[in-house]
Amino acid sequence: MSTMPTLFVSHGAPTFALEPGEAGRELAALALALPTPRAILIASPHWMSPAVSLTASDRPETIHDFGGFPAPLYGLRYPAPGDPALAARAIGLLAAAGVDALADPRRGLDHGAWVPLRHMYPDAAVPVVQISMPGRRPASWFHALGRALSPLRDEGVLIVGSGSLTHNLYEFTGAAAGTTPYVSAFAQWIADTLAAGDVDALLDYRRLAPHAERAHPTDEHLMPLMFARGAAGADAGARRLAAADVRYGMLAMDAYVFGEA
Ligand code: ZN
Repeated sequence: MSTMPTLFVSHGAPTFALEPGEAGRELAALALALPTPRAILIASPHWMSPAVSLTASDRPETIHDFGGFPAPLYGLRYPAPGDPALAARAIGLLAAAGVDALADPRRGLDHGAWVPLRHMYPDAAVPVVQISMPGRRPASWFHALGRALSPLRDEGVLIVGSGSLTHNLYEFTGAAAGTTPYVSAFAQWIADTLAAGDVDALLDYRRLAPHAERAHPTDEHLMPLMFARGAAGADAGARRLAAADVRYGMLAMDAYVFGEA
């Protein structure tokens, strides 16, 4: 079985489900190009449990964890099977790395998980386990969390961190304006830092990157990038997708593929 790459995706606003755009098209093309994974393990900041938790039901429900959006969004379902055995395997790997994690047999998939997966695997045939992202941890902690799970790459599991490359919702106006310059500057710094393989700088992004605090007033939506990069381990390579897709002038939809053979 070939080693799977890992993936960071920007899930943008929930309307991404109805408006694939460049990001949706590129994620769909990526999924067709990759070997079909045995299962998917995906992290989303919309599940911020106090302790690390993993979905562990056979049939995780689709959670519509958003309000005030167009009615068709609430009719969408992502009926992928769960994979309780994968959840247990991940909990074992995390325990070996000193991280206590819990299986949650009731939790379903939030929009940070199912919206991008719907573009990648629309038939929902690949089993999905979601892992929570506890809040108020440093970037290095999320990087280590991903690193602990990287053996799953050799077991046919696609590890995905789902967040948003920029995420300042205070600036949301609903208008599809042009890209705000600071969004491009921040996204380019991330691209350059990943291309250079400078993980130390990446983890210190808040001090080093231009406009870091404006791009992420709180940084829970950037931590899935640290998670996905960590899960790639020592493997080099970061391929950027959807670089030109910016929603509402301030939500950069960049995705990254890490550790491609
Ligand atoms: Zn989100």
